[in-house]
Amino acid sequence: MNEALQKYVEKANQVQAARQRYIREEVKKWRFDTIAVHGTYSVSEAIENNQGAIIEPMFLSTAQAYRDCDEMEAALTYQIPTWGYTRIHNPSHGYLKDTLALLDGYNTGVETGCFVAASGIAAIAATVHPLLAHKNGETVNFVACAQIYGGTFQLFNVRWMEEQGIECRWVADPNNLDEWKSKIDKNTRFLYGELPSNPGLSFFDLKKVCDLAHEHGLPFIADSTVATPALLRPIEHGADIVVHSVTKTMSSGGLTIAGAVIARKNMVCNIPNDALKADFAMYCMLWPNRDFGGSLSPLHAILVLNEIRTLRTRIDVLSQSSMKVAKFLEQHPKVAKVNYLGLESHKLHELAKKYLWLVDAKYDAQYGKDINRFGHLLSFSPKGGMPASRQVLDGLKRIWLATDLGRIKSSATLPAISTHQQMGEEARTLAAIPGDLIRLSVGGEHPDDIINDLDQALSKVK
Ligand SMILES: *Cc1c(COP(=O)(O)O)cnc(C)c1O
Repeated sequence: MNEALQKYVEKANQVQAARQRYIREEVKKWRFDTIAVHGTYSVSEAIENNQGAIIEPMFLSTAQAYRDCDEMEAALTYQIPTWGYTRIHNPSHGYLKDTLALLDGYNTGVETGCFVAASGIAAIAATVHPLLAHKNGETVNFVACAQIYGGTFQLFNVRWMEEQGIECRWVADPNNLDEWKSKIDKNTRFLYGELPSNPGLSFFDLKKVCDLAHEHGLPFIADSTVATPALLRPIEHGADIVVHSVTKTMSSGGLTIAGAVIARKNMVCNIPNDALKADFAMYCMLWPNRDFGGSLSPLHAILVLNEIRTLRTRIDVLSQSSMKVAKFLEQHPKVAKVNYLGLESHKLHELAKKYLWLVDAKYDAQYGKDINRFGHLLSFSPKGGMPASRQVLDGLKRIWLATDLGRIKSSATLPAISTHQQMGEEARTLAAIPGDLIRLSVGGEHPDDIINDLDQALSKVK
């Protein structure tokens, strides 16, 4: 290595070390809300580099310039931290990914990394791709619970299984460990699950499934979109990789499609690739996500960052409203079934109670102790099957009929004809999504107004 290049590497190492020290000695000592509000954006960084701007800057530049060829070579051979070109990385992504890595790693004692992508699905695609790499006709497979988001089902079932011949082995009951076990063999690359699931509100014993994955030397990937780190940090229970559609619950404003992956460093994995295991998120950012091009716009990185600052309190309020709405629906004469993990009638309520806690409730002046919260998503079936469900949805006046969730504005949909339509009936049965199931994402309106809208729509069912 030439001397000038060596100097750039040394300087970069010093900057990195100072930054790591700031994170270790300051940021990691803060409570969840403070990390959500500030992330790693320090006062000195603002004043020295960003004209004192108190909000993290949007770097809308496509590319980064270098002082000379030595610096460019050091950067583009990844010997120094760089962003180079926004398809690979961008400083505005950096603020978002640092914050998300810290929030999903909060109180876990685990070192985490993160990369952000153009959508939740782009994040999932860039995550599973390197884990399914195979050479010379080698057979590989993966095992996933069937209760997952329709788009993920499509990615796994059509793109991977039908088009690429990589077998996805579906688990119908993720609480049956023997079922998981029976599907793992020497060619299995990872296990995958979503909890709570969209839209069925299914749940499983995360720690047990993670332990099982590790017994077989495999990573466990959890889609934690609906819970967010305000309620669940899967890494604490052993998960190796957490995927989020940041589009959804994490950002309530509805201006952005975005995804993120948070991974533990030095993760368990049976693929002989040291860089992948050491820092999976960094690996995905530098290679698969770069090569597939699912890059997040820096504008949207800052838009969602601004929403995450209030994540904990927002999820608390939405969870309390959802509980009220779920209880209203449960006692309604025209409703056959309600799925909400907070209801004692839900068969997985006791299990969900072990995992879903409002983060830092014990430091909250209002609570002062640990409390369960169950999120903003629920689903229900009115009496009368699919025709009744359509009547309820058509009768809503204020709740939006839209294939969206996590918004500050309540929305509802019929997954069988929208988000989970391409899955087909057979897969929906496996995933426990009946045709008449209405998904309701409870927003920030007063819960009485949400209830009144549901009540008048239900009253129209003949
Ligand atoms: C919406 C969703 C995704 C996909 O996210 P996009 O941002 O729409 O690409 C993945 N998982 C879950 C649970 C979702 O709800």
